[in-house]
Amino acid sequence: MTPSVPVTAGVDIGGTRVKVVLRQGAGVVGRHVEPTPADVGARVGEVVAQAVERLVAADPSLPRPQRVGVVVPGLVDEVAGVGVWAANLGWADLDLRATVARAVGTDVVIGHDVRAGLLGEHLLGAARGVDDVLFVPLGTGVAIALMSGGRVVHGTTWSGELGHVRVDPDGLECGCGRRGCLETVVGARAVARRWQAAGREGDARAVAEAVGGADPLASQIWHAAVDTLAGALAPVVAAAGTRRVVVGGGMAEAGPVLLDPLRAALTARVPDPALEVVRAELGEWAGAIGAAHLVPVGS
Ligand SMILES: [Zn+2]
Repeated sequence: MTPSVPVTAGVDIGGTRVKVVLRQGAGVVGRHVEPTPADVGARVGEVVAQAVERLVAADPSLPRPQRVGVVVPGLVDEVAGVGVWAANLGWADLDLRATVARAVGTDVVIGHDVRAGLLGEHLLGAARGVDDVLFVPLGTGVAIALMSGGRVVHGTTWSGELGHVRVDPDGLECGCGRRGCLETVVGARAVARRWQAAGREGDARAVAEAVGGADPLASQIWHAAVDTLAGALAPVVAAAGTRRVVVGGGMAEAGPVLLDPLRAALTARVPDPALEVVRAELGEWAGAIGAAHLVPVGS
């Protein structure tokens, strides 16, 4: 027993799954995942408390957490601990910190899933040892997080919402109600939508496989997406002085099919010859691991 070593739980509430890790000192000592209930917005405190309890109860040797970090998608006010808006989870202006703290009975820190994922990759994953990092999880959505000088950048609640930057005024309608957002070109759903509109079957994974098999239509859709993404990321990289771009999310499972052309398209655009483009290492656990390391913003 080492009671002086702090124990924290990190909880990542995603649209489909709740991931929980337990951290003791510098090490992750337990993990648990369960489906996100449909009514999570109405009982988020209970959902977090039960998920942490299931993790701790599964192994009697695990210590109980003294603090819980919770990260969520969408717009998050990390200072106030408020979930401002999350379409997938069904809440708006929800006082997450107070709600969760009542249910778990410990101090609670609230964070944003992508910024926490960057923190996780910096501590234990693909961004170890690098202090100027851009984290790009590519899934249905395209939110990013930036680390500058070893600190995760927290701006307004709109920080990182690159997916809703308009790249094509005449483009397809986006879930946000605007037209031609980056997400309508480069996200997994966007890639699948274009593939299916051309009469083909399958999701973004099928497109990636077809790219590997040198299918011309797949290559055209894929490389148009990669090129548009590189065009959106390059000014961010140049402005921030980013040294390493860490690409995660479901689309990164395509490996070199995504990473190689993205690296080529980005390095062709930015002046820094030492820019690195690598795949994330922590997979779906990055957010929960980051959540277990969160400290209140400003402290
Ligand atoms: Zn949008």
